[in-house]
Amino acid sequence: MKPWVSVAQWIDSHRAAEGAGPGPSGPDRIDLVRCLPFVILNAGCLAVFWTGWSWTAVAAAAALYFARMFAVTGIYHRYFSHKAYRTSRPVQFLLALWGATAVQRGPLWWAFHHRHHHRHSDRHDDTHSPRMHGFWWSHVGWITGRRNFPTDYSKVPDLARYPELVFLNRFDLLVPVLFALAIFGSGWWLELHAPALGVTRWQMLVWGFFISTTVLFHATSSINSLAHIAGSRRFSTDDDSRNNSLLAVITLGEGWHNNHHRYQGAARQGFYWWEIDVTYYLLRALSWTGLIWGLNPVPSSVYAEAAARGPAGSQPARPPGGQA
Ligand SMILES: [Zn+2]
Ligand SMILES: [Zn+2]
Repeated sequence: MKPWVSVAQWIDSHRAAEGAGPGPSGPDRIDLVRCLPFVILNAGCLAVFWTGWSWTAVAAAAALYFARMFAVTGIYHRYFSHKAYRTSRPVQFLLALWGATAVQRGPLWWAFHHRHHHRHSDRHDDTHSPRMHGFWWSHVGWITGRRNFPTDYSKVPDLARYPELVFLNRFDLLVPVLFALAIFGSGWWLELHAPALGVTRWQMLVWGFFISTTVLFHATSSINSLAHIAGSRRFSTDDDSRNNSLLAVITLGEGWHNNHHRYQGAARQGFYWWEIDVTYYLLRALSWTGLIWGLNPVPSSVYAEAAARGPAGSQPARPPGGQA
């Protein structure tokens, strides 16, 4: 790929994207120019040594982390990837906009790769399996791989029929750039009108956008990497997925990954009240407003299977590459 084509793809992801898609398996060639925005996102955190910190900036980073973790788990994952609940077309678009502020590319790209993961979990064709490709490839390498930039729209036909979603997916840097500018602008406003807070526009940009988004990325990615390595297995799924309470806390419920691999279509991933799943509580609250509805439950047959297998964590973990 010529470097200028990769640069053009930052703005228009459809450009020269034909014929690509997740490859058969294994580490791919990294497209350094294409993933430069991602490198800048991570490296931008270092600007904190220049801007310093303030409580306002740190609070903004934390608030934006949680608001956008919900966008990843409640919207990109449970709605666009798994259709775990239903909504209207206008609200679907607003959800997609919210999801795009997470800076994890477009909703169709995310759903396409995630559905691919479920179809091939921890087997040869899985794009991000720590068992098949090692921890770092599953955590971050795969998203820099040349093959994994395009979206195969034929694999997400239920989403590709909405041109407004395809637009957001095609120009996937648009919302993140506007979002970063909005954060910068809010910092500027506070700098002028609330100087007592001690926050500056650059501080707000670094904490509210770069640090918050980078931590958000690595927390999300820990489900692809750590949640297939560390934790307990309630269900004997044919992959390495684990339930991990610590990951569930930092990802608002996604850490119940073995539950999720057993039954992907449910709106909840913590299957019991003691399995904290903040995303599910927020989805329940949203459903009371009428904006979303039809939250898919966990089938009673899955609960019966869990009961028959005994308490969570009692299942022997499958050794890497082996069978339980
Ligand atoms: Zn998984
Ligand atoms: Zn999933």
